Amino acid sequence: MKKVVKFGGSSLASAKQFKKVGDIIRGDKSRRFVVPSAPGKRNDKDEKVTDLLYQCYDAAADGKSYKKILEKIKERYAEIIDGLDLNLNLDHEFETIEENFLKKAGRDYAASRGEYLNGLVMAEYLGFEFIDAAEAIFFDADGTFNAELTNKELGERLEHVERAVIPGFYGSRQDGTIKTFSRGGSDVTGSIVAKAIHADMYENWTDVSGFLVADPRIIKNPEVIETITYRELRELAYMGASVLHEDAIFPVRKEGIPINIRNTNKPEDKGTLIVESTCRKPNYTITGIAGKRGFCSINIEKAMMNAEVGFGRKVLEVFEKFGISFEHMPSGIDTMTVFVHQSEFVEFEQSVIAGIHRAVEPDFLEMESDLALIAVVGRGMKATRGTAGRIFSALAHARVNVKMIDQGSSELNIIIGVKNGDFEEAIKAIYDIFIMTEV
Ligand code: ASP
Repeated sequence: MKKVVKFGGSSLASAKQFKKVGDIIRGDKSRRFVVPSAPGKRNDKDEKVTDLLYQCYDAAADGKSYKKILEKIKERYAEIIDGLDLNLNLDHEFETIEENFLKKAGRDYAASRGEYLNGLVMAEYLGFEFIDAAEAIFFDADGTFNAELTNKELGERLEHVERAVIPGFYGSRQDGTIKTFSRGGSDVTGSIVAKAIHADMYENWTDVSGFLVADPRIIKNPEVIETITYRELRELAYMGASVLHEDAIFPVRKEGIPINIRNTNKPEDKGTLIVESTCRKPNYTITGIAGKRGFCSINIEKAMMNAEVGFGRKVLEVFEKFGISFEHMPSGIDTMTVFVHQSEFVEFEQSVIAGIHRAVEPDFLEMESDLALIAVVGRGMKATRGTAGRIFSALAHARVNVKMIDQGSSELNIIIGVKNGDFEEAIKAIYDIFIMTEV
């Protein structure tokens, strides 16, 4: 059994957190490959080391004073090293980093040092080999991740390694310069390592006990999702539920490696298991609810629209011309509605409207703003009759007016459009009808 274990910034923010991580790794011999993030926030008012590194680099590269910020960063590591009683001195590393900052080695280089240094500390603490991600994770010259080369080189590099620490978040280009993934990218590194070593499991340790059925800011103490498929996750993540970096799914998914989201502060919790497919019955008809505010709809009416071949294309071309992607497009006999992100649309509103008038000469066109979309997602919906009925009667009882309904052809989700103001009420009503009454 081989496991890759990735620990997020809050799991590694202090010596106290490091000790918890040490216990977790030592508690299971199959936890052989460790991917650390940079130290994160110790409390709400704290700063992430990655953010400090960006600030420090920007100041140094601009010729401004940066020493104070550098000191703050050094202190963060000193607290961890001292608290763990390690015989490790990072002075030389910090000298190199400072020199490279002044030589303008780049923001990616700067940010990556958070993970790099934490990897050194972690390797020393665990007695594992340290493998610099720059030597095994590769990007092309244009900055795209080179999956093939990485998989080959990393696989070979790790083949005969018993235990190792590989810092998350970054790799290098062929010319040796450092490139990072987007923020939160240590999740991606963990997934890449899991694929390269053909892991049995990718454990992603964070500060929550898994994916929640609904947003805890709306639902008090929502249930944790025990098992979720990659497709369900994609739907929920798209609609705003975030725990894992989106790009972390791809490498392991292709290899059929499950991801287990775990809580460093509550290691006894089983967390959420993310799998390709499962015959485990979900606990409830629905797996999760997520949603986003801030959409608007453009409603177009034209008599005999249905008979006009190319009508939809002409309308969508107008949006395309302004670089606006559409979210949903429900249509009726002589009507068609396009949902877009309000923030993307506002700037081009009048041009798009004029464009549609010119392209299809509609009889009537109106817009509605401040809408929210809610996705009710669940593999269990397919086998259950009456799911939609239950959702809509719950919403009716809650006096929520439904503006739009869209059921994906996979029967994996039902999307509901409501007014922004009804957003929370609608989520509560849906949660209650499925989770509270199915226990
Ligand atoms: N340290 C990086 C960030 O803050 C990457 C990560 O934590 O995954 O975004």
